[in-house]
Amino acid sequence: MENAPVSKNFIENIIDKDLAEGVYDHVCTRFPPEPNGYLHIGHAKSILLNYGLAKEYGGTFNMRFDDTNPTKEKVEFVESIKEDIKWLGADWEDRLFFASDYFEKMYEVAVRLIKKGKAYVDDLTAEQIREYRGTLTEPGKESPCRNRSIEENLQLFQDMKDGKFADGEKVLRAKIDMASPNMNMRDPVIYRVAHMSHHNTGDKWCIYPMYDFAHPLEDAFEGVTHSICTLEFEDHRPLYNWVVEEAEFPHPPKQIEFAKLYLTNVVTGKRYIKKLVEDGIVDGWDDPRLVSIAALRRRGFTPESIQMFVDLVGVSKSNSSVDYAMLEYCIREDLKLKRPRLMAVLDPLKLVIDNYPEGQTEMLTAPNNMENEALGEREIPFGRELWIEREDFMVDPPKKYKRMFPGTEVRLMNAYFVTCTGYDTDEDGNVTCVHCTYDPETKGGSAPDGRKVKGTIHWVEASHAGKVVTRLYENIVDEEKGVYNKEDGSLNLNPNSLTTVEAYVEPCLMEAKAYESFQFVRNGFFCADYKDSKEGAPVFNRIVSLKSSFKLPK
Ligand code: ATP
Ligand code: MG
Repeated sequence: MENAPVSKNFIENIIDKDLAEGVYDHVCTRFPPEPNGYLHIGHAKSILLNYGLAKEYGGTFNMRFDDTNPTKEKVEFVESIKEDIKWLGADWEDRLFFASDYFEKMYEVAVRLIKKGKAYVDDLTAEQIREYRGTLTEPGKESPCRNRSIEENLQLFQDMKDGKFADGEKVLRAKIDMASPNMNMRDPVIYRVAHMSHHNTGDKWCIYPMYDFAHPLEDAFEGVTHSICTLEFEDHRPLYNWVVEEAEFPHPPKQIEFAKLYLTNVVTGKRYIKKLVEDGIVDGWDDPRLVSIAALRRRGFTPESIQMFVDLVGVSKSNSSVDYAMLEYCIREDLKLKRPRLMAVLDPLKLVIDNYPEGQTEMLTAPNNMENEALGEREIPFGRELWIEREDFMVDPPKKYKRMFPGTEVRLMNAYFVTCTGYDTDEDGNVTCVHCTYDPETKGGSAPDGRKVKGTIHWVEASHAGKVVTRLYENIVDEEKGVYNKEDGSLNLNPNSLTTVEAYVEPCLMEAKAYESFQFVRNGFFCADYKDSKEGAPVFNRIVSLKSSFKLPK
């Protein structure tokens, strides 16, 4: 399609067709998390997809907690999920719903199905139901209770609701087709007895609807048009359609499946993260090495970078894994022009300018971001003693080395040209201090006689430097060995996933507020940690280094 202005994804194509054919006259999407854990990057994809479609078509986006399962849900997660979605920028306005608010209406639909002869109460045990269901190659067997009278079913279902049966003693099943090639259609259970308290409805109910019955009804009650879910529900679609059809909604919702987002070398499974937290390997669900939305926020990712990532990944029908480096690419791109570029030294070595007056300091002016003038300028102290990176000096460098070694002249970023005159060592021969002289004529970084230098190195003036804790990260799992151990399914942890380094930084960085982020020149992007930073003593998490292994596909 050479002339197509923008290429739409397959979901947009479905929506376009539905609107053109008058199947719907508007678009309503939703995000329906189960409040049983924190959201992760995969959920972010689903949220931004659903919200983005609603916005694109001038429609509405609903937020709905799918809290039909009383055992697993926790109120704690409801709050964290709301916070994460707000942070991502998806706005549900006044449409915050709870599936449990529909229990009464769901019950009414179940009664209607019984009255239509489309549902029956079964006495078989869970195990018998499994046996009767048959296999992929053999049809199922009908339950002896399948042909109960409508009156008897109504009475028994009422008794289930009234608490006359123990857990598992009776279930309500949809009456569909025990010989269907789709196992989900072989008279699925739609209500079970469970004497459990629910976080929202308390002890009002002792019967609870099953997911495959509840979910389509939730969508239909809310007037959702396009119910977008992940591929594992493809086989459930006939049942979804059966439910909304038998419940006789005039404009039933349509289920559309897309592939889940998987990232390489990260852990998303709730079970694994829980264990990492319990074993004290990570510092909670928002440890910056995780990819929960809370962890990404803590590490310093922005909503814009996640949106960019989701857009780059696109929507597809086949499962695949996306390289973590692509997410890193997006945050670099987003912060590149937005954040000041300051100087910080992570592996300090002392540099003494022997011809600079002792006890003197001066203030130099530096642009905050060479590529974005709008970020303004700042003053930085300069003096006789500085910190430089250890790797920026070598006694005996290889040929192409452009930084400092005896006899060479380099530029101190935003300051002067200096010429290395010598160095001190300890008894073991380790360099402890580098000596140089500066040329006062080269203030601002260029020489009046036009001579050039090959290298520019960053620095921090020693007497004004702030000392901070920085945390450098690698993937939490070992890339070489793979995420999971083949033998026992345990995680192959990377012992170097966290390195803590004391760094010297420009004085202004000592005022950094939680979540504020910066580029530390040549060292990467860093963000002040909200948990561990104290007033005047920030802790910086490295969001990402500046080196990229990812190339944007052409
Ligand atoms: P997990 O077990 O990984 O936390 P889940 O599917 O159990 O995921 P739910 O709360 O049931 O979590 O999911 C809410 C929505 O998010 C669903 O519509 C689901 O399809 C979608 N979703 C979950 N994981 C992903 C993923 N990796 N990529 C895209 N969408 C996802
Ligand atoms: Mg789930």
